Amino acid sequence: MSEFPETRWQALQDSLASVAQEFPNAVVASSLAAEDMVLTHALSELGFPLAMLTLDTGMLPAPTLALLETVRQHYGCAIEVWRPEEQALQHYVAEHGAYAFYESVALRKSCCQIRKVEPLRRALQGRGAWVTGQRRGQGVTREDLPLSEFDTAFGLQKFNPLAEWSHDEVWQLIRHFEIPYNTLHDQGYPSIGCDPCTRAVKPGEDLRAGRWWWESSDSKECGLHGANLQRNTVEQETQNHG
Ligand code: SF4
Repeated sequence: MSEFPETRWQALQDSLASVAQEFPNAVVASSLAAEDMVLTHALSELGFPLAMLTLDTGMLPAPTLALLETVRQHYGCAIEVWRPEEQALQHYVAEHGAYAFYESVALRKSCCQIRKVEPLRRALQGRGAWVTGQRRGQGVTREDLPLSEFDTAFGLQKFNPLAEWSHDEVWQLIRHFEIPYNTLHDQGYPSIGCDPCTRAVKPGEDLRAGRWWWESSDSKECGLHGANLQRNTVEQETQNHG
């Protein structure tokens, strides 16, 4: 097996165990990204003390849906799948068109609201905390990501135990433990979201450059992590007035 960041790995398991102890009904939200696969593997080593969920937006690429099945079989774990409200979807499509998210940031955000934010709000109801696989190195909106914060948007504690991890450390772990991952990562997609809103990145580009590539880099959040945009806005205003 290849080398891996042992200290980080141990710290991650300790951190997940401590979240499970403090918030037994916490949930890990997985988008089946490389980071989420590291979280899944860590949970499996701990005997899955926390529940897992994922959002099926109805626009996910086939390899992401295939990975969901692989995870279920490989780890023998249940992952809750949350989907958008059919009526809200139909209303959006009838009013704006199925691909209106390319037309403006506002229409893009309202699609994300229906397909991601609202289902997540339902999924988090009654939970004491949630856990994400976000990292600071993923882009400008995540540079100041804390390890733990109170999520005012959803009204519960939020943990980002991989915040300090590097891209390389994530992949060292995946190679070392031969963790299953999304095959799109091997085709130039470091960050994967909905099919029509994700493209491969070019060498030297930001890791999230392929997400909503037609927008500027400081708006690249879908609303699941509202505090990231707020922190980014405050920082920009401070710089502008500094
Ligand atoms: S990523 Fe694109 S398709 Fe997916 S919810 Fe957001 S705007 Fe809609």
